[in-house]
Amino acid sequence: MECDDLSTENQLKITVEGIDFPKDEEKRDAVIKEISETIQRTVEEQKTSEPNRITVSEGHQFAHLPAECPRCGEEPHISHLTMMSEDKSIANAKFECRHCSYTGSAKYRLVDVETNKYNSKKGREEYRSIVADGDVKPQYQPY
Ligand SMILES: [Zn+2]
Repeated sequence: MECDDLSTENQLKITVEGIDFPKDEEKRDAVIKEISETIQRTVEEQKTSEPNRITVSEGHQFAHLPAECPRCGEEPHISHLTMMSEDKSIANAKFECRHCSYTGSAKYRLVDVETNKYNSKKGREEYRSIVADGDVKPQYQPY
């Protein structure tokens, strides 16, 4: 099932909070598969369309875009990087492609930070994600 239509108006996002998945990986996968099949069956029963792709995954999801120019695929040039004064987790930048003259503005938002292993509260000998450690809860907003 490949998804060629990337327009978000044809996508459905469901967020379920406070769910305790089974610790056993096999049982957890079975629950996720059942959720996926239930959604597939429900959408098909509505006879509106056949879904191209259903992805069910646990944990935090971060949206990301490719680093290349959206028009020509070459490496873009980022300039005029400025921090937002009211929200320090957001930076604005100008996006210019020197290959095809595509221009745009980019908004960079901090989505996760890593704990320095020397300052880690948990004393781990590795870099850890603040989100994975549960110290920061990401927020997701629709367009
Ligand atoms: Zn370009």
